Amino acid sequence: MLFEDLSLSKSIQKAVYELGYLEPTPIQQQAIPAILNQKDVIGCAQTGTGKTAAFAIPIIHQLHRIVGSSKKTKQIRCLVVTPTRELAVQIGQNFDQYAKYTNLTQLTIFGGVSQIPQVDVLRKGIDVLIATPGRLLDLHKQGFIDLDHLHCLVLDEADQMLDMGFVNDVKKIVKLTPSNRQTLLFSATMPMAIRELAEMFLKDPVSVTVSPVSSTAEKVEQRIYFVDKSDKRNLLYHLIRNEKLSDVLVFSRTKHGADNVVKSLRKKGVAAEAIHGDKSQNARQRVLDAFKAKEVGVLVATDIAARGIDIDQLPFVINFDLPNIPETYVHRIGRTGRAGNGGIAISFCGKDEKPYWKDIEKLIKVDVKVIQDHPYPWKDGSPEAGEKPKSSNRSGGAHKSRKSATSKQNKKRWY
Ligand code: AMP
Repeated sequence: MLFEDLSLSKSIQKAVYELGYLEPTPIQQQAIPAILNQKDVIGCAQTGTGKTAAFAIPIIHQLHRIVGSSKKTKQIRCLVVTPTRELAVQIGQNFDQYAKYTNLTQLTIFGGVSQIPQVDVLRKGIDVLIATPGRLLDLHKQGFIDLDHLHCLVLDEADQMLDMGFVNDVKKIVKLTPSNRQTLLFSATMPMAIRELAEMFLKDPVSVTVSPVSSTAEKVEQRIYFVDKSDKRNLLYHLIRNEKLSDVLVFSRTKHGADNVVKSLRKKGVAAEAIHGDKSQNARQRVLDAFKAKEVGVLVATDIAARGIDIDQLPFVINFDLPNIPETYVHRIGRTGRAGNGGIAISFCGKDEKPYWKDIEKLIKVDVKVIQDHPYPWKDGSPEAGEKPKSSNRSGGAHKSRKSATSKQNKKRWY
């Protein structure tokens, strides 16, 4: 199937062609015709599947037909609610790209920054509003947002919104919209709570599903290093230097941990930056831009901050800490191998993280390659069946074993 086969307006086809999209991804092939057909849609798809375009493109097509080149005051006709600032920014950028050759305008609003510029744009009028729940309700309460003319409501990353405690906000937001709206709900996972929300808000929805969470993992080349917690920073530096890794996204469980990893890399001369919730929105965007421009080779992120990071062909993801929720592992490694591109996901597993790794293996059902030949294995060895992390007697000959492992790895680039 080609984009031409989807009966989209020429202006959208031109924009999509310029972005280099050759054909619609599976979620787009399923969702675009249903949305153009005015159906409510419940989509089970995670970031990296082309999900944003799956809803943005048909919405732009419909609004373009309604609004055309009319110079009348603009009204909010589409609202996209998404959990994080990064995701909101990313969706806004995608809307701008796909609507480049239309007269449609969008505004992205989120908390943690001044509301004044947002209110100024709202006063002028926009067609599409992309918002995080808190700021949306806040500005609505202040009378700056009118949702009475809404055609389409998108609830994006619904499971994440629930995880972040936005369920009541989401319910309040839906109540503010007209009942004859079209509703699209996207979620990476479909737990009971999401199904219940869908039943409440969607009418006779078309269900579209792509890559169930566990199967995404099969596309990415995965490697696990059993390494003591105290050696993780050394191992990270070792890999970055010896394997000459760049464009690396490193995941840390905590903000504090992310800052520490960055500090230790910088001390050794590696250009690294952290991205997490303690940084201002502007600082986060600056860091992301520098990473995209390849001025910064290593980006260390927490899970929440990483949700909205959209970078094509990210070659490496490193789990500096293993997540305690196995699905999070799949989301993380899904940052590489996006839209069909391959990638490598490397995980560090400390002794205390062993139960997390067991849960992850159970979920992904993939035999992950254990890298034994590295200089920082668990100090007391203690291999378990199937994993065999090499025992290294660090008090006697540690240096030697480290050196030989390093030189072997130097010869053998593994990607
Ligand atoms: P998303 O799942 O919305 O985060 O999209 C993941 C990435 O895939 C984004 O960088 C999009 O620009 C890209 N993308 C979306 N649709 C296509 C397509 N049909 N062909 C190639 N890349 C795409």
